[in-house]
Amino acid sequence: MFKLFSNAPVHDPIKQQVSTTEIKKTTCYMCACRCGIRAHLRDGELVYIDGNPEHPLNQGVICAKGASGIMKQKSPARITQPLLRKAGSNRGDGEFEPISWDRVFEILTKRLSHIRATDPKKFALFTGRDQMQALTGLFARQFGTPNYAAHGGFCSVNMAAGMIYTIGGSFWEFGGPDLERAKLFVMIGTAEDHHSNPMKIALSKFKRAGGRFISINPVRTGYSAIADEWIPIKPGTDGALFMALMHELIRLEKYDAPFLKRFSNSSQLVCMDDGAEEGLFLYDPDSDPINQDLPHNKYIWDEKTQSAQPCFKQGTSPVLLGEYTMGPGLHQGKKVVPAFELLKRQVSETTPEWAAAITSISAERIRKLALEIADTAFGQEFELPIAWTDSWGEKHDSVTGRPVAFHAMRGLSAHSNGFQTTRGLAVLMSLLGTIDRPGGFRHKAPYPRQVPPNAKPPSSENDIKPNTPLAKPPLGWPTQPEDLALDSQGNPLRIDKAYSWEHPLAAHGLMHNVITNAVKGDPYSIDTLMIFMANMSWNSTMNTMEVREHLNAKNADGEFKIPFLVVCDAFQSEMVDFADLVLPDTTYLERHDVMSMLDRPISEFDGPVDSVRIPVLEPLGECKPFQEVLIELASRLKFPAFTTPEGERKFKDYPDFITRFQTAPDSGIGFLTGWRGKDGEKPLKGEPNPNQWQKYAENNCVHQYHMPPEHQYMRNWNKGYLDFSKENALRQKNDPIMIAIYSDILQRFRLAATGKCPGAQPPEHLKARIYKYFDPLPFWYPPLEDEATDLTKFTLNAITQRPMAMYHSWDSQNAWLRQIHSHNYLYVNTATALQHGIADGAWMWIESQWGKVKCMARHSEAVDPGTVWTWNAIGKAESAWSLSDNADESKKGFLLNHLIAEELTLGGFTVSNSDPITGQAGWYDVRVRLAPAGDDESQETWPQVKAYEVPGMSLKKEVNK
Ligand code: SF4
Repeated sequence: MFKLFSNAPVHDPIKQQVSTTEIKKTTCYMCACRCGIRAHLRDGELVYIDGNPEHPLNQGVICAKGASGIMKQKSPARITQPLLRKAGSNRGDGEFEPISWDRVFEILTKRLSHIRATDPKKFALFTGRDQMQALTGLFARQFGTPNYAAHGGFCSVNMAAGMIYTIGGSFWEFGGPDLERAKLFVMIGTAEDHHSNPMKIALSKFKRAGGRFISINPVRTGYSAIADEWIPIKPGTDGALFMALMHELIRLEKYDAPFLKRFSNSSQLVCMDDGAEEGLFLYDPDSDPINQDLPHNKYIWDEKTQSAQPCFKQGTSPVLLGEYTMGPGLHQGKKVVPAFELLKRQVSETTPEWAAAITSISAERIRKLALEIADTAFGQEFELPIAWTDSWGEKHDSVTGRPVAFHAMRGLSAHSNGFQTTRGLAVLMSLLGTIDRPGGFRHKAPYPRQVPPNAKPPSSENDIKPNTPLAKPPLGWPTQPEDLALDSQGNPLRIDKAYSWEHPLAAHGLMHNVITNAVKGDPYSIDTLMIFMANMSWNSTMNTMEVREHLNAKNADGEFKIPFLVVCDAFQSEMVDFADLVLPDTTYLERHDVMSMLDRPISEFDGPVDSVRIPVLEPLGECKPFQEVLIELASRLKFPAFTTPEGERKFKDYPDFITRFQTAPDSGIGFLTGWRGKDGEKPLKGEPNPNQWQKYAENNCVHQYHMPPEHQYMRNWNKGYLDFSKENALRQKNDPIMIAIYSDILQRFRLAATGKCPGAQPPEHLKARIYKYFDPLPFWYPPLEDEATDLTKFTLNAITQRPMAMYHSWDSQNAWLRQIHSHNYLYVNTATALQHGIADGAWMWIESQWGKVKCMARHSEAVDPGTVWTWNAIGKAESAWSLSDNADESKKGFLLNHLIAEELTLGGFTVSNSDPITGQAGWYDVRVRLAPAGDDESQETWPQVKAYEVPGMSLKKEVNK
């Protein structure tokens, strides 16, 4: 009978629900911020995700991406089984046959064990936006290959290295603005970006408390939308602004002289004599170096005795300015100056007028900004009654607050002048005395670290031997030319040429050059390239179309130039089509994971914090976490760290590895800091605890350690904190971490280029480059691309930003988030657009000297007239990510990468389009011009590229139509 005529109610509101509901806590990974989340399941099915109110990072806040994780889980683009490219098919055609995991491990074990036994550097492992570099790096080191890096080289290595080589810490995970106590917040080169929810929470409190927020950015979006003032700036010129601000602060004598004298190398004496010591600090043989790697036994000029004295000697009165002659002793007669004097000379010409012509900010506005910063730092100074003792044993009753906080990210970093720009910001913050002080920049554990940390990359062929772990970690922090990764002929040891004379301080590698270098055989060919979670044939590469051709390039004998390509990803991206072997990864909801103190934890200002992911769902199909793949391979290849003395497998699986691995036998230091010790009673350090995962599960997947207030500030020089950090292996030493206003490390490379000192020298064609860019003091220079561009033809800057609602290409397949962005526009200032005859919403061309793209225009007042911009990674290849053939993403959305060159020819030789110091990709340096599309042109984006569905993508495709 029809229900209409039945006695039974259509819905019985008082009937007991028969379904079971469950809430499981884990950590979000819809972006890299790592908020705590609660996954709500009904009868085992995920029905809802919200923020975990008990999590210290996001305190219950969740963003659009985080809440949409459920649709990532239901994505029809999931790869569900291992795949092997069909023999004879071309890469990129997506022709695969499903295989078993047993077969996968057979293939990889055979291939990799042969490479490891013959020439380990023929295996390259490069990973994208993962957060387990402690494991992937360990795998590469145990394998014995130097060819390893994560995505930092094309993301933010300039930010990391520029800050770490200056103050021993950096923004985001490792430090940030103390908005609780700041009065003025200056955000520069940051869009809706890293540290998203915590930054939003902090900004809303800051604004409610009356704080003033200035955003300096070519574009006013994201956080900048709520700024009290927006100062548009021309991309790539932030360094010039910092130089002018420093000029003004020094001219007006508005800098923290006592802070600089005691806590930085500002008063230390630099040798000015021509020769092998030129520009280097002089060392006192009678003083204790304290740290053999980076000795402290330098001199200052003492005002009282008018003589050079050991820099840490009590009772002296160091000067910051002047020029002096060394008295009797080892250095008698040498001309010396305090480092600060050199900084003063460096900024003497960088006036606001000079910067105005470069930045497009008026000189008057720069002057006003300098005064506002100084007045806030010094006029609103305050003391917190927190007693602490410095590294020299002096007791202080309080810590001084200077309430000016800065925050910066890829807008500074992703330029070929980004390292020196970031150094400029770090030195500016130091002049104001805002380093690890209330209201300014504050570190997060494990930072601060030595300037720079003491790990060094492999520096000779002898560090790379068959069937042997690398003698040194694949990535490190060079301090002298002898640390470079060069063979005995001076050729790069690494496939990406990181740590070569082209990019000596490439602390995160140059993932963006790996494919091109390998195909060219420059510096050599490799056998197997394993890529994890990086879309290297699309939005993660410059010069996209040519890189796609490279991936398919063959030798005369018909063999691929990169013989074997392994791709591990959870989704069918543009890159998956090119793989020889596809490893189906899990989503973040299906795996164990750690945000480790050995890697990139989620620490707070007041102490170390780490966290975990615990699976809330079973893996789909035959998906396997990449972590498990690595543990399995490491065990089968019998890496020493993964094998018992009897030659047996040491770890059952990834969770077992995380529980029992220690950095050294019985060190008590492992991946996780929570509930260590046999009974889980020890924080930070202790024996492995078999119940450690359980304790994390019971405690919101997070372990937080609160340090006492006396350890929370001035940590570079805080004796109590430094002892604590050494005791708990956050650092190896407990000597003070002096701020490097002047970098003698950079000067060592510069000196090598002059030939005035013994030791390694750059090749002839790179000498002028090294000399120019390795200035020991911050300076501004135009991005390298300007040199290679006719600026009269290509007058505009073009940049991209990551949208608030999507994390790179990860969310293109997310049915909910696609409703926010299914395609992107090129945002053009209205006046600029009208000058070019381009109507709002019209089809248009954007062209650089390297290529052109057809896209749609959007007029905007929230962009500087000299800049155009778009969201990154919205545009897709046709059918990629399981989108339908006519999806907006491939027909209206576009990729700006087609306009960006991977290499530049400068001075007659070809180099990577990257920072000459760190190798950071110069994403935001490209110059463009605009033109309206013709009425007769098709209304779809160009170029068009096709991707292919792979076997096993069996879930309902309708979800994303
Ligand atoms: S900010 Fe990132 S980690 Fe936090 S909820 Fe949003 S997507 Fe997840």
